[in-house]
Amino acid sequence: MPSVYELTSADLATHLSEEPRYRVDQVWRGLWDEGRTLEDITTIPKALRQRLVEEFPSSLEVANEVASDLGATRKWVFRLHDGATIETVLMNYADRVTVCVSSQAGCAMGCTFCATGQAGFSRQLSVGEVVEQVMFAARAAAPRRLSNVVFMGMGEPLANYAVTVGVVQRLHEYRAMSARHLTVSTVGVAPAIERLADEGLPLTLAVSLHAANNVTRDELVPLNRRYPLERLYAACEKWLATTSRRLSFEWALIDGVNDTDRAMHELADYARGLHAHVNLIPLNPTPGYLVRGTRSERVHEFRQGLEELGINVTVRNTRGRSIDAACGQLAAVTNGRTSRVTLRSR
Ligand code: SAH
Ligand code: SF4
Repeated sequence: MPSVYELTSADLATHLSEEPRYRVDQVWRGLWDEGRTLEDITTIPKALRQRLVEEFPSSLEVANEVASDLGATRKWVFRLHDGATIETVLMNYADRVTVCVSSQAGCAMGCTFCATGQAGFSRQLSVGEVVEQVMFAARAAAPRRLSNVVFMGMGEPLANYAVTVGVVQRLHEYRAMSARHLTVSTVGVAPAIERLADEGLPLTLAVSLHAANNVTRDELVPLNRRYPLERLYAACEKWLATTSRRLSFEWALIDGVNDTDRAMHELADYARGLHAHVNLIPLNPTPGYLVRGTRSERVHEFRQGLEELGINVTVRNTRGRSIDAACGQLAAVTNGRTSRVTLRSR
């Protein structure tokens, strides 16, 4: 049986067609407005609750949980019904509460610096498995309201296209989330970016660029060999022309690889024409990629240099470094592929 969050409001009404309309509304409100588990929707009779719990068991079982930043960052590894594992991170900021969700168990894109890429692909997630991560995090965030969802956990959301679109549509329609609060991050699947532009969905697109010359990007992001920077640029132009929404570029700063003055100029030249905002993130080291993240003084210089070249830049702090919060790292530890001790908190 699929997750209850797979259902549209029409699906639920059909499923409960023998119940009065107000009961259907009570279930719907409990699930989507109040973010309750089925067990916890106490406004409906116990027998109905039990029936629904049996019909729609939760797809997520907590396999590991860690916290850092004095509890402001929390990360879960979930085991799915077939044993596949995924991770979800909740980040509390002063002005917003963000959940980072996985869109696939593993990832087939093989980016060299990424723990998920090093571990490979297991399977696609369903709409329900992604939405359940959001609702789990929303419960954990209480009494604060979860405000932002970013598709930056495990997996490439545009390689699980229909599910990503289905999740965004549901969060928009049923949780009233808008483009400023929904961010899909992609490694640069050019045709899928173009298709997504035509969907007219309320979302912000982040492209994981990391290099603005094809030689370096081929190394870091193997998909670049299929969709090189020129092809990606055309897709970004279409995104801008069709949606009129700001585009952002993610750039994981890697010591000596993409933090040179030359890399800075290449990035500025690439970003300028697209009016893209650049997010710099010092690389979080992964066991399979033995290059360090850029030192903080150089991060600062790189940022200033870009600004002087007319680019809008934000330096993202590496939230949850002590709990391996970069893409796929905690799941790798939980699965016993590495032996790092991660239960430190700062
Ligand atoms: N597959 C998508 C979304 C998931 S990865 C994508 O690649 O965009 C989310 C972000 O984490 C990407 O920008 C990715 O490049 C970045 N990332 C992966 N491993 C990292 C690491 N070790 N340090 C810093 N950022 C990392
Ligand atoms: Fe996949 Fe994104 Fe990691 Fe690349 S960075 S391997 S696309 S999850």
